[in-house]
Amino acid sequence: MSIHEFDYVIVGGGLAGSAAVDGIREMDEDGTIALLTEEETPPYHRPPLSKEYMQTTEAPRDLLYVKPSGWFEDQAGIELVTGARVERLDPTRLVVATEDGEVYSGRRILVSTGGRARALPVEGFGLPGTYTLRTAEDAEAIREAATGAHRVALVGAGFIGMELAATLRKLDLDPIVVDLEERVWGSVFPAPVSSFLQHYFEGRGVRFLLGSAVAAFDGAKRVERVVLADGDELVADLVVVGVGLQPNDQIAREGGLAVTDGVVVDSYCETTAGHIYSAGDVTCYPDPVFGDLVRTEHWDHARAQGRIAGRNMAGAREPYEHVPYFFTHVFDLSINVFGRTGGADRTIVSGELGSGRSVVYCVTEGRLSGAVLINANDAMDECRELIRERPTMDELLDRLGPEGSAEMVNTGAG
Ligand SMILES: Cc1cc2nc3c(=O)[nH]c(=O)nc-3n(C[C@H](O)[C@H](O)[C@H](O)COP(=O)(O)OP(=O)(O)OC[C@H]3O[C@@H](n4cnc5c(N)ncnc54)[C@H](O)[C@@H]3O)c2cc1C
Repeated sequence: MSIHEFDYVIVGGGLAGSAAVDGIREMDEDGTIALLTEEETPPYHRPPLSKEYMQTTEAPRDLLYVKPSGWFEDQAGIELVTGARVERLDPTRLVVATEDGEVYSGRRILVSTGGRARALPVEGFGLPGTYTLRTAEDAEAIREAATGAHRVALVGAGFIGMELAATLRKLDLDPIVVDLEERVWGSVFPAPVSSFLQHYFEGRGVRFLLGSAVAAFDGAKRVERVVLADGDELVADLVVVGVGLQPNDQIAREGGLAVTDGVVVDSYCETTAGHIYSAGDVTCYPDPVFGDLVRTEHWDHARAQGRIAGRNMAGAREPYEHVPYFFTHVFDLSINVFGRTGGADRTIVSGELGSGRSVVYCVTEGRLSGAVLINANDAMDECRELIRERPTMDELLDRLGPEGSAEMVNTGAG
């Protein structure tokens, strides 16, 4: 059996894997790189899948690509291998093996395998007409199904459910969003923002069924109904389930690397096995602000951590100190979030929650823990720095000046 020998082997060609290629090249102009990825597509951006890409059948796939079409082919010393699912990682020999039996060795290896949509363990999940959304194929299938759909149910009022609800309204569908929790987007937003968003969405024709568990999907040949735990039923001919992400950490786990909720790394993105690194959605890393181990499923983080991992693989020794943030666009709201906001026990709302500009500062245990910026892109740099500093409530109020006299809400979460 021949072994394909490279200086660097990257497993998983998403945004983190692609950014690692950039990071390596910043440090090492000539090292050979293999980028192995299961999908048939070069690295692409996923955020448009639930937004612009879903809205028009004319959007070509290559609009999503991280690099211009043909970029990888034009690079000396870089080999992009699509349709290559890695099944085994041997940390002792520093080799990986694909399901087709191809073996690749690297002086340094990166695991950037991202995640897959979590399944809903109920009867009927997988019936034709039920979907999850993670890949470009998923988005294209949902886009096609949406053109003939009459009743759409979205399970989960998190990122996928809320973004799709906004997008499908633009396509003149009337989605209903079902969630177990009593408030929308509850894991990331504090209570006042959840309640604002719910009303905002309702005002634009999205319906919600909150505090409701889905028990099954039912139908003769394809989905016709969503059956709820209390026995009620919703008629639906298109269902999208968005209930979270399952990290693709199998090869790391089976290879003996430390894995908790994702592949554990230190602040240099190195796993517990020397010379093997990890970055992006699959990675559990020390949070540069809060210090604990976290896994982050956001675009900006995948890009920034992938790049640092690549640089460190090629000899730099730089800690990952980036304050990650995430963005979302729903209807006419551009939302950016820094730090931790979901479990805040106090919020200070500067401006008025609505279509205009506002910033919601989130305070947890007496210190600023996060900020939600709504149509306030101008405040991004300032908020990123504020989160890094984590001022006390009094310091924050001083800093904000007249802004700080804005509405303060005790959310009772703490
Ligand atoms: C619909 C949607 C909308 C989003 N919107 C936003 C947004 O608005 N804002 C935001 O901040 N973030 C958003 N995100 C999240 C963001 O896209 C992700 O955080 C980012 O894509 C993570 O990149 P990654 O490279 O870590 O993982 P991925 O993009 O998941 O890439 C991993 C790649 O590895 C491949 N792979 C997995 N296992 C193997 C294996 N064993 N062998 C070979 N290849 C393998 C996978 O097929 C995949 O191609 C969105 C995500 C989705 C799905």
